[in-house]
Amino acid sequence: MKRIAICPGTFDPITNGHIDIVMRSLSIFDEIVVAVAPNPKKTPLFKIEERMDLIGESFKDLERVTIESFDGLLVDYVKQKGGVAIVRGLRAISDFEYELQMALMNRRLDSVIETVFMMPSEEYSFLTSTIIKEIASFGGSVKGLVPEIVEKALSEVFKLK
Ligand code: ADP
Repeated sequence: MKRIAICPGTFDPITNGHIDIVMRSLSIFDEIVVAVAPNPKKTPLFKIEERMDLIGESFKDLERVTIESFDGLLVDYVKQKGGVAIVRGLRAISDFEYELQMALMNRRLDSVIETVFMMPSEEYSFLTSTIIKEIASFGGSVKGLVPEIVEKALSEVFKLK
């Protein structure tokens, strides 16, 4: 049976840190579903369709990676997809408290689904979508930190602003 893992997030936009986590997960799981949350609370820069397109482009050569959007309870979505695990990235220690809280709450909601944490390569350890948007908004270079397609999308957004 195929072992499917769900990699949920806002991905506003996808960075090389996210990609690093998905690539590592592919060595453990047969299939990764990148599940994009609309997350209106965070008032994303990119619409959900744009975020999904950018992720799709970034993984276009990888058959074992699929991109979907989801709403509602994550554990329900994982069950619906037949997933065995939730994959999250752990960066600097600042991620730990929130991630532990989420993982334990999700376990309480469904004890069968495990949360797996992956550590990114050091060079992406301090990389966040927020910092990328901030740099790009001031015209700074984000080369090497995001896929080229994201670089282009960011420069278009901030040119228009
Ligand atoms: P969320 O709003 O759910 O935190 P994000 O898009 O910010 O969504 O992050 C999705 C997942 O990717 C989270 O598990 C986050 O820790 C992880 N992640 C984001 N950036 C990085 C990075 N640079 N290195 C490793 N993991 C990352």
